[in-house]
Amino acid sequence: MPNILADEKDVRFALFDVLKVQELSKTEAFASFTQDVMEMIIAEALKFAENVLFPLNLKGDKEGARFVDGRVFSTPGTAEAYRALADSGWLTARESEDLGGQGMPNVLNVIADELFLSSNFPLMTTAHVTHDGAKLIELFGTEEQKHLYMEKMYGGQWTGTMVLTESGAGSDLGAIQTKATRRGDGTYTISGSKLFITGGDSDVTENIVHLILARIEGDPPGTKGLSIFIVPKIIVNSDGSLSGVPNDIVCTRIEEKLGLHASPTCQMTFGENNDCIGYLLGKERAGINIMFGLINPSRLGIGAWGTGTASIAYLHALRYAKERIQGGALDNPRNRVAIINHPDIRRILLTMKAYTEGMRVFVYYLSYALDLSRVSSSAEERERWSGTVDLLIPVLKAYCSEKGFEMANLAVQIHGGYGLSAEYPVEQLMRDVRTATIVEGTTGIQGMDLVFRKLPMEGGAVFADFLAAMDDVAGKMAGRAGWQAYIDQFKRTKAGLAEMPAAFSRQTAEGNKAFPYLKANLFLEAFGDVIMGWFLLRSALVAEERLEALCREKGATDAASRDALTAGDMDAVFFQGKILTAKHFIGTMLPVTEGKLASIAWNDLSAWEIVERAFGG
Ligand SMILES: Cc1cc2nc3c(=O)[nH]c(=O)nc-3n(C[C@H](O)[C@H](O)[C@H](O)COP(=O)(O)OP(=O)(O)OC[C@H]3O[C@@H](n4cnc5c(N)ncnc54)[C@H](O)[C@@H]3O)c2cc1C
Repeated sequence: MPNILADEKDVRFALFDVLKVQELSKTEAFASFTQDVMEMIIAEALKFAENVLFPLNLKGDKEGARFVDGRVFSTPGTAEAYRALADSGWLTARESEDLGGQGMPNVLNVIADELFLSSNFPLMTTAHVTHDGAKLIELFGTEEQKHLYMEKMYGGQWTGTMVLTESGAGSDLGAIQTKATRRGDGTYTISGSKLFITGGDSDVTENIVHLILARIEGDPPGTKGLSIFIVPKIIVNSDGSLSGVPNDIVCTRIEEKLGLHASPTCQMTFGENNDCIGYLLGKERAGINIMFGLINPSRLGIGAWGTGTASIAYLHALRYAKERIQGGALDNPRNRVAIINHPDIRRILLTMKAYTEGMRVFVYYLSYALDLSRVSSSAEERERWSGTVDLLIPVLKAYCSEKGFEMANLAVQIHGGYGLSAEYPVEQLMRDVRTATIVEGTTGIQGMDLVFRKLPMEGGAVFADFLAAMDDVAGKMAGRAGWQAYIDQFKRTKAGLAEMPAAFSRQTAEGNKAFPYLKANLFLEAFGDVIMGWFLLRSALVAEERLEALCREKGATDAASRDALTAGDMDAVFFQGKILTAKHFIGTMLPVTEGKLASIAWNDLSAWEIVERAFGG
């Protein structure tokens, strides 16, 4: 029976046929990652997600993390699953061998992100923040800090947290109030309250290493005055053993929230008794740069979560649509059929397939770009890939998290009333992934990052070059039977998108300062749509070429034998599916994107002009 998390054939097609990531094995850094090895790792990851992570997640949603007498208790089985994750090498898969890792490329690791985060975000978010905390200590810590904390975090003995948010400081971290006071021995006393801290307390491991943003007394306001501190839950002896002395940290409650019930989201007080010891990581006032050094991989991970959720939602909806008998056939209403036979359900399913598969290529492409920004042979190439990553990260993070939620919502719709019932997992998927649009910078913050920081990179050349690279596939598709109208639609939408930065500059120059802020999110969405169109077209081109080769191989030279092949041969069916998925997206979604672009270009500033009282309320 096929798994219901990800279509393995599609994963392989995206990686090896569309993006050709196996080329990485020609580089020295990734020589051991041949296609065979990659396929084996993917199969293992899928098995782990299916057998361990997904079942635990369903249980975790019902049982939830519990807060009893000031302590957090996780869903039974969580600690064992975390141990299994560490033992199977996933915590350190990307790290070098001397750190216990396998030196895995990002593009392979991100498949685990896609599968694991969407199968069990509560557990995997702990793994992610622990990894990232260990990475920061690896990059900025002293040798002693690496020995005391990093090794145990990478090894899975201790978990970690990222402690930024406060009641008055969410998106605006410059408003952080938590204080650090020099104790005179090189350590600091931390005092302040934080909230929304994932895994702030937990029983998964015997110690927790918090990485906290705080302001050293006397340092300037804003983000520039922030430093980052290592704050262990239990004080660690100089030989690395646990002292048994708890640091002055209290978890005061865990949030009752929409989803992710198994993930304890903690309110924390540090230094209630003026005795919370923190150890500076890196230099004073370098906190924000250190913390944000890992922002690209973190945001990529959230995009992978949205994509994986779309995939699980799609496969569940598809299975349900094939089983659920309701209503009559279009050409014979007395014949009761499974709902997959209704045009409207097919429209929804193909929309879900298109977004899932387009986002999958997008996520893999950007992870591959991250690898190429490291291992490409020329400095120019490395710089080009690095620019692509920086440009596209906010789009990927916001677009894939928003669409992940939308796809889960569509899966609920396909299930009808049963979609709302806890008997089926789609309502949980929808609730859980809602968080993806908020953490690691909200969708609004990503839109502003794109418009104000990323579009202007190299005077707009990074954006322009990226769009120009898309012409390649349109050129190759031109002249292919049945494609011209689709190619024209794609090119027209892309050309409309390319004009937007000039519109932003023009409006700003004319004094409409709010204009780019008002339009940033729709622009990000339209950009995401065009990227989807591009990846789906690229996939369709490969599918057409493979289908043609298959027809030649099977001697299917006329229309009738081709039709017979695409109705029966599983490879031919797959390729046909790819072709029609691309056509559906370009023919159905991109005209809507043109409408979004028209909306951006239209100089309507009502939302800015309306006085606050006129909103009513
Ligand atoms: C499940 C969960 C887990 C979390 N885990 C952690 C964690 O482990 N560690 C941690 O430190 N934090 C964590 N957070 C907190 C998370 O990072 C914040 O919720 C997020 O940064 C947004 O901050 P906020 O909630 O205060 O919203 P706000 O910043 O108040 O934003 C509210 C709205 O205003 C918009 N907005 C804000 N500023 C602007 C602006 N300048 N211009 C335009 N629009 C703006 C936002 O886009 C948003 O729509 C977690 C949150 C959740 C829900």
